Amino acid sequence: MTRQNLKGLDRGELTTFFASLNEPAFRARQLFRWMYGRAAQNFEEITDFAKPLRARLQEVATLETLTLETRQISHRRDAEKFLFRLMDGVHIESVLMHDQASNRPARHTLCISSQVGCPVDCKFCATGLMGLLRNLRPGEIVDQVLQAKRLSGSKALAGSPITNVVVMGMGEPMLNYDALLKACYLLGDAEGPNLAPRRIVISTSGIVPKIERFTKEGHKFRLAISLNATTDDVRNQIMPINRKYPIAALLQAAREYTRQSKQRVTFEYILLDSINDSLADAERLKILTRNIPCKINLIPYNPIAEAHQSSSGLETLLAYRRPSFERIEAFLANMREGQNTVTLRWSKGDDIDAACGQLWTKVEKAKILA
Ligand code: SAH
Ligand code: SF4
Repeated sequence: MTRQNLKGLDRGELTTFFASLNEPAFRARQLFRWMYGRAAQNFEEITDFAKPLRARLQEVATLETLTLETRQISHRRDAEKFLFRLMDGVHIESVLMHDQASNRPARHTLCISSQVGCPVDCKFCATGLMGLLRNLRPGEIVDQVLQAKRLSGSKALAGSPITNVVVMGMGEPMLNYDALLKACYLLGDAEGPNLAPRRIVISTSGIVPKIERFTKEGHKFRLAISLNATTDDVRNQIMPINRKYPIAALLQAAREYTRQSKQRVTFEYILLDSINDSLADAERLKILTRNIPCKINLIPYNPIAEAHQSSSGLETLLAYRRPSFERIEAFLANMREGQNTVTLRWSKGDDIDAACGQLWTKVEKAKILA
């Protein structure tokens, strides 16, 4: 008999499970707290359950857990990256970033993956190069937070709680919509990791019907959109998904989201040398976003490391470069003349391949070479 994995189940599903064992409903609540609130790894840790119940659970159920394969800490010690192995042997990445501004409480933001690989095929992205291997299940999405909490609490970067989650790792979250939202609600649960919905940001390449659904359903999680270009010509080139959902339709969906949710949307804009970083681009970006309550987050492109160069399809990736410091500054200064808040985010942990998909490509390459 295959054992049932309980990680990823919500309260109702856990109640049904315990009913099938003729156990009272409060067991579901106890397990929920242990599994999501205290990150229990196995039934033995759950001391609220008497030994016979733990043994019974061990027979019929599991708590599937991600296995840490590699952990890297950046030189500046402000970021660490986890490469996790899933039950079927595939890998995903999560990155934990520590932000110690003096004027507000420290932030510890975990960037999590939503899929293994990604089907969207953005030309500058290492994850895009992988294609889609499979969707993550709710338990695998939640477990990235639970494991990162456990790991970071005990090692070099002294005990950091996770205060924020951004779904900006591998994968397109809106193409794994149901699993992702279920996971976000588990992460937000007061008896689980207890993250306020405004501290969970879902980033999408612009899957318009899913943004519309997200808006209509009224979820309180924050939305970020990877805009990355100011003309359909350029966006078509670097993000082929734009052929299906062009800029005008995307911005309309973003506007509607802000109108109904009364929240600002964040536009991410990676800066690619000589592709989307001219002052004319900055002018267009201001005009495009003029009537949308938003923040604009400029991200200088994180080039794909030399180590990946011989993988197939990589030649296209290598065509992309980070603009010079002067060009980035000029773009930023121009954007600051507009009315929206603009921030420049240097990716933390450049030295640990912290950009999306980079560590994966390195490990897969090492496996191929081994
Ligand atoms: N699929 C979603 C979320 C994951 S990608 C999305 O595209 O929004 C998260 C962000 O990383 C996107 O804004 C993407 O444009 C950016 N990104 C991908 N590769 C990058 C790189 N090498 N350097 C900097 N940002 C990158
Ligand atoms: Fe997928 Fe986002 Fe990478 Fe595009 S940028 S390929 S949507 S992970």
